[in-house]
Amino acid sequence: MIHRERVADDVYTFQSDIYAQVNAGAVIGQDWAVVIDTLAFPDETLAIREFIEDELKRKVRYVINTHYHADHSWGNCYFPGAYILSSALCRDLLDKSGKKSLAKALESDSTFQKTQIILPHLTLTEGVLELIIGDKTLRFIDLPGHSPDGIGVYIIEDEVLFAGDVWMPIPHIVDGDSEVMRESLRNIGKLTIENVVQGHGEVILRGEVNSSIKDRIHYLDVIDKIVDDAALDDFPGEYLKEKTIEECGKSRILLGGAAEEIHQQNLRHLYEKVHGEKPRYLNA
Ligand SMILES: [Zn+2]
Repeated sequence: MIHRERVADDVYTFQSDIYAQVNAGAVIGQDWAVVIDTLAFPDETLAIREFIEDELKRKVRYVINTHYHADHSWGNCYFPGAYILSSALCRDLLDKSGKKSLAKALESDSTFQKTQIILPHLTLTEGVLELIIGDKTLRFIDLPGHSPDGIGVYIIEDEVLFAGDVWMPIPHIVDGDSEVMRESLRNIGKLTIENVVQGHGEVILRGEVNSSIKDRIHYLDVIDKIVDDAALDDFPGEYLKEKTIEECGKSRILLGGAAEEIHQQNLRHLYEKVHGEKPRYLNA
């Protein structure tokens, strides 16, 4: 149900087969372990815990949330006794909007019946935070853009970056800002990198890092242009619908088929942000 991969000694990624190829990670020390993000569904997060606690015989002492979105943070409660770490803003957003979203989800879906929002115990507002586990240093890196609270976790010795959702096969900006995302991506480009674990999708290898950054920034440039041009159309909403993800140079099969919907959300969000109104449709 989850796909496990080893990206460096004692560093693992876990990918959901069910939900948009979302990734979590773990760093395993002598006596204890750190988990980076949880997965979308309780059973998936529990499978991570089973692997670490039952197979590797380590206790999860820390869980880091890269941002507050449900598919990365709602599994906090499945690591009882662990300290949760995040940006200060992530804690705020989980408190204000995460709790509401969970209550809403529970109205129609029993999947999250046992889920509780556990707010981070340790937060970073500014400056540098490093978590040391054995001979590995996990450095928190500010990476907003997909959401305002985004951080990445950079394992200095292994040159592995857990980027969170600021880096996905297709950028998702609906809860963020594309200019801020561009800057975060450029900042990642300044790091020495062996692997990038994207928030969703396959692991990016060293040789692909620069082209992947360019590719994502290019996509952001393309949708900027589309949204500008759409305003000249009588029915901008229809114009946006025609600009499929393939027209923007990306495949619709990305992220288990979620890519086209993410792309259309990006266009509608950006249109509203730039033009100050919702795009008009033929049958509205
Ligand atoms: Zn997200």
